[in-house]
Amino acid sequence: MNDARTLRLHPVHLVGAGPGDPELLTLKALRVLRQASVILVDDLVGEAVLETALASPLVDAPAPPRIVRVGKRGGCASTPQEFIEKLMVREALAGERVVRLKGGDPLVFGRAGEEIAALRAAGLEVEIVNGITAGLAAAGSAGIGWTDRRAGAQGVLLVTGHAGHGCEEPDWDAIARVAAGGVTLVVYMGVSRVEDIVGRLRVALPADLPVAIVQRASGVDEVIACTTLGGLVSTIRGEGIGSPAILVIGRVAGMAMAAHGLHDRREPGHPMNVGTTRGVLTL
Ligand code: SAH
Repeated sequence: MNDARTLRLHPVHLVGAGPGDPELLTLKALRVLRQASVILVDDLVGEAVLETALASPLVDAPAPPRIVRVGKRGGCASTPQEFIEKLMVREALAGERVVRLKGGDPLVFGRAGEEIAALRAAGLEVEIVNGITAGLAAAGSAGIGWTDRRAGAQGVLLVTGHAGHGCEEPDWDAIARVAAGGVTLVVYMGVSRVEDIVGRLRVALPADLPVAIVQRASGVDEVIACTTLGGLVSTIRGEGIGSPAILVIGRVAGMAMAAHGLHDRREPGHPMNVGTTRGVLTL
């Protein structure tokens, strides 16, 4: 009997699905997904990841999990965050094994903090299962060492190019100064506002600073483009690169270009600067 006295509550898992390639799911993510009875899925989570997770359910799994899609698609308004939190709480309090599946890592621009707070406020336990964040997958695809000492990189800064509703605009002046000191910038959600971002960064950063753009990192249709800060807008708009994409800005991006034979397309004799991991860029 599942009445209030006998109901066993399970911890809610916030799980990172990684950037898209199912092989980049962790074993722990896979196990937790296979034990879930309800999975709330963000739209950045690729179908291949979900299919892999659900392909071979555990022998003792009671029934296939209920899949609830809570992301935004095609520019539509996303499911309100408060609604998602309430849904997670309601399902977990009903004794369901709830997994909240997010693209990349739940702790990187994933609103995990708000969800953890809401779950704890309802008396629920929360467990985080890390995933590979898109910025790291982008660096991996392009062969960029975020902190390559040979390029003088002292660290890395993950920044959002897009201030959320009610959030302050990133302080681009401060970010540009940090980057000028030798810190690699990894920009999430930067494509739609790239004109503004370049304009703000150019105050402290040179036009010839290398930039790698990785769209759909780790996916079968991944695109990698190499350019400079000065050429970033024309590369993105000219090549029709859209979201989801990561910008890696800094001298480390130039080292990867040189190492893997990718070139700024405006350089005479090197017409190609855009390719996929299966095409131009072969690691
Ligand atoms: N929690 C996620 C980030 C969510 S914010 C993570 O850790 O990766 C959403 C942004 O992530 C997108 O706008 C894009 O900038 C980036 N992103 C997510 N998946 C991506 C992918 N496969 N390739 C490139 N960028 C991606």
